[in-house]
Amino acid sequence: MKKIGVLTSGGDAPGMNAAIRAVVRKAIFNGVEVYGIQHGYQGLLDGTIEKMELGSVGDIIQRGGTKLYSARCEEFKTEEGQQKGIKQLQKHGIEGLIAIGGDGTFMGAKKLTEKGYPCIGVPGTIDNDIPGTDFTIGFDTALNTIIDAIDKIRDTATSHERTYVIEVMGRDAGDLALWAGLADGAESILIPEVKDDFGEVIDRLKRGHERGKKHSIIILAEGMGSGFDYGKKIKEATDLETRVTVLGHTQRGGSPSASDRVLASRLGSYAVDLLIAGKAGRMVGIEKNELVDHDIVEILNTKHSVDLNLYHLSNELSI
Ligand code: ATP
Repeated sequence: MKKIGVLTSGGDAPGMNAAIRAVVRKAIFNGVEVYGIQHGYQGLLDGTIEKMELGSVGDIIQRGGTKLYSARCEEFKTEEGQQKGIKQLQKHGIEGLIAIGGDGTFMGAKKLTEKGYPCIGVPGTIDNDIPGTDFTIGFDTALNTIIDAIDKIRDTATSHERTYVIEVMGRDAGDLALWAGLADGAESILIPEVKDDFGEVIDRLKRGHERGKKHSIIILAEGMGSGFDYGKKIKEATDLETRVTVLGHTQRGGSPSASDRVLASRLGSYAVDLLIAGKAGRMVGIEKNELVDHDIVEILNTKHSVDLNLYHLSNELSI
């Protein structure tokens, strides 16, 4: 393999730049040329493809977002779109592709692999919703952003003796809410993986209030519905002064944490190793701090699960 491509696709995540840097540097270290495809699969169709050099990934390891830009591309989901993409790869002599993103991105990588283009997927998404890896690139940074925000909200919550409902990202996966709730001592955590017991949330709030608690924090994953609706219900059921904060896209940005930079460097580098070794249709990941790779089809057919032990622990600690 003499020429490979790299792209980022789907939602951006802090650490994607560190992964791009690792891919470029590792490939060049092994005498392989690297082509950066801008705007994900859309750029593949449009041919916005440029050769990357050692210097083109300088000064990006500490930056959030993605130097290669990201996009959603409906056309690439079609057979014609994929054929168009393959033509562009052929035109540039690109023999293999590293796709950094979430499960949608891996669907694209799977399609290309089935058509004879070896692809390796690198999990980059703040949601941590990909099976086959303990952590995805961006999760740790997003989590720290949430913690930072909640710590600040907690000051106000205490000063004004309020209950706060904080809505965090996670349409289908509750990892961000779960980890943030445990790390911030939330009274209740509401995630799509666990049936919502509103009565228990209210009992917990009342118990805390009766023993003199000055504030309460409830973390809600966006997949559970609107934080504002939930706040209203709590106010009605308890008469406690309740406020709602939706953290929104602040969770996606920012400088990647040390942990995400290290993870991205390891995964990006390992993806290059696999392409050079002639592997195709794999997703790289980390399990028990060891680098692993899995069949991308298997990953796409497996449902991500949260660590329910953390959920139970949080409940035990916030009695
Ligand atoms: P995140 O979950 O963080 O948003 P993602 O990778 O899951 O990331 P998607 O928007 O689902 O984000 O997918 C990114 C892109 O991958 C799509 O816009 C499309 O170009 C490509 N893609 C998704 N599904 C398919 C598919 N079935 N076949 C080919 N390409 C696909």
